[in-house]
Amino acid sequence: MPDTSLVAVALPVPLRKLFTYSVVECGSSLMGCRVKVPFGKQTLIGLVVEQPQQADPAVKNLKAVIEILDQRPVLPQNVWQLLLKASQYYHHPLGDTVATALPNALLKGEPCQLTPEVHWQITPQGKAEFDTLSKRAVRLRFAMNQLLQAEAPVQEEQLKHQDITPSTLRSLHSKGWIESFEAGQSATSFVKGSTKTLNDEQQTAHQLISKGADQFSPFLLDGITGSGKTEVYLQAIAERLDNQQQVLVLIPEIGLTPQTLARFEQRFPNQIGVLHSGLTDRQRLNTWLKARAGILRVIIGTRSAIFTPMTNLGLIIIDEEHDLSFKQQEGLRYSSRDLAILRAQMESIPIILGSATPSLESLNNALTGKYQHLTLSKRATGQKLPQVKLIDCKNQPMTDGFSAPLLKAIAHHLKQGNQVLVFINRRGFAPVLLCHKCGWIADCKRCDSYMTLHQGKASRYLQCHHCGGYQQDCKQCPKCQSVDLFAVGQGTERIEQFLAAKFPDYPIQRIDRDTTRRKDAMQSYIDAAKSGETRLLVGTQMLAKGHHFPKVSLVAVLDIDGALFSSDFRAPERAAQLITQVAGRAGRAEVTGEVLVQTHHPEHSLLQALTQKSFQQLAKDLLHDRTETDLPPTSYMAIFRSESHQKQLALDFLTATAQQFSMFDQHLQLMGPVASTMSRKSGRYRFQLLINASQRSTLHNAISEKMPNIESLPLAQKVRWSLDIDPQDLL
Ligand code: ADP
Ligand code: ZN
Ligand code: ZN
Repeated sequence: MPDTSLVAVALPVPLRKLFTYSVVECGSSLMGCRVKVPFGKQTLIGLVVEQPQQADPAVKNLKAVIEILDQRPVLPQNVWQLLLKASQYYHHPLGDTVATALPNALLKGEPCQLTPEVHWQITPQGKAEFDTLSKRAVRLRFAMNQLLQAEAPVQEEQLKHQDITPSTLRSLHSKGWIESFEAGQSATSFVKGSTKTLNDEQQTAHQLISKGADQFSPFLLDGITGSGKTEVYLQAIAERLDNQQQVLVLIPEIGLTPQTLARFEQRFPNQIGVLHSGLTDRQRLNTWLKARAGILRVIIGTRSAIFTPMTNLGLIIIDEEHDLSFKQQEGLRYSSRDLAILRAQMESIPIILGSATPSLESLNNALTGKYQHLTLSKRATGQKLPQVKLIDCKNQPMTDGFSAPLLKAIAHHLKQGNQVLVFINRRGFAPVLLCHKCGWIADCKRCDSYMTLHQGKASRYLQCHHCGGYQQDCKQCPKCQSVDLFAVGQGTERIEQFLAAKFPDYPIQRIDRDTTRRKDAMQSYIDAAKSGETRLLVGTQMLAKGHHFPKVSLVAVLDIDGALFSSDFRAPERAAQLITQVAGRAGRAEVTGEVLVQTHHPEHSLLQALTQKSFQQLAKDLLHDRTETDLPPTSYMAIFRSESHQKQLALDFLTATAQQFSMFDQHLQLMGPVASTMSRKSGRYRFQLLINASQRSTLHNAISEKMPNIESLPLAQKVRWSLDIDPQDLL
């Protein structure tokens, strides 16, 4: 009998505990290695986090590890420590926290090593002889077509995703029609692209950031749209690279910012690894491993890239730090921005949070001196920020959502040879389909919401934007059989159709989630917009993010009133950020911009402030309101949410949860349980319990103390529930 020892394993399950297994003694430490273990009827991959001396006497029939997958820890110490802290702070099971951080390939048990990235391309012979291929050789023909269509060599992995098998590739290769090569694994030496001479404000920011090297120094780079924040990032990165360090850059959504990426790649060729959701598992693992090995010096990624192992990290940058996509809204509900601050602190390095519209949390930290506040108040190109003007729609005749003055302005700007951007934050044709005869409204059977009408050239259908529910074209009222159905309100599709008919001479492009599903669609729209070919742009907030369209001179915001009267206390902050960001798309280069906002409430204080004040001034006012009303960032929040097909169960769970906290009633403010704003989604009733505290520690201590009780409530097994720390979305 060989000696056995024990390991405690964190498993990707929603349970807080660690699971102990026996393992045949193997001499070396297994800490941080992945193991394959039995769990109930399944086999799971977990991470060894402890090697206990003795088994918990309560555990009977200790099971054995099936396989040890690694020889050395997959995560370096720094990332491991970050995960421990994250699991603690978000009161989330360690196993599931680890699963959030590890690349998929590792969770599936694939080897933790670089795999060659084989690329295929067509040879001149292949091009010449392709036509001789028999029509019946369907597979070969398909593979050749895919390779012909791709303008660059294609990764074997990607071809596999298109069901092109290695044997197909082998037969084409044997004909001499295609050839393969391996992508180089090591980066070429660091080449500096051209740099700009920084203006005074940029220079000051740059110098202060330089001074903060090698210690925890958080900066808020608070610079208006087009003020040259990216230029400041690039020079800060160059300095860290000169110093042989690595840099981690977090951005909101890769697909939306191809231009920013291109600028980075131009400046630091072959140094950059990009982590985003469009990668295959293997590509992601390779980039991850190259970052861990220090081969890639700059990693640019979305939210989860904060967990990228980097051995020699010298700087973290978070662009558009106010962006909601940095907060994960399921599972481990973490804020990538907040974990980035934590990571910078743990690794004693500088971190730059950049935005034209900083979150009130970060602004507060800057104003209270926790962060250094760097301001860029002028556009780098010398252009003035466009002025926001309001159009009072009260009593105005409206045509498909447009007032007469707005249509006139659009016509004027187009005639001048410029581009116009029309912003409406709702996709589809119309948000409501109504029966004119009996008042019936098409609603979702599974959600507490209406179906959105979609109406393109080819098809017309109803869709629920909350559960995805789909319904074929509705031509007749199901209640009274009338065919007199009305589309009420506007979405991007309707606006596009209307403008295309109104201004037929000007090419138009709609940009929303429906038009950008196809990979690379966004890039081609952006290219067409940048070249000036597209003259009218219609879109949702996707258009507001970071794009640089030199010829846009008018930004029209169709409908903002919904945001003025939301019950979420963050709604004014969000509305102000959105309008400021979308306004920032105007007049970025040669032409001066104009921003027109339609509203029925021109007297509303927020809209007034937007026309009269800078975002910075406005944000200070909003911050003042938060302090007065004792809301974040002055206070600290957590939300317990529950949902169930049975309404009472969901409510009872939160009532029991609330009781757990009643003993803290002097220090915690409990609100609820109440029904969520959308009280039913995908057939489940939803409730929430909000906890507010003036001290972060009070909140966290209470939750830590009560969490075990809450988890062992019998109802906890019967409903779906979650805890959201520092929630960003209260609805
Ligand atoms: P932001 O990131 O703040 O929106 P960018 O860095 O994209 O701003 O800069 C806006 C424009 O100004 C870009 O076209 C950029 O090339 C240019 N720019 C930035 N800094 C300078 C500078 N110091 N001198 C000249 N042009 C600059
Ligand atoms: Zn009817
Ligand atoms: Zn629905």
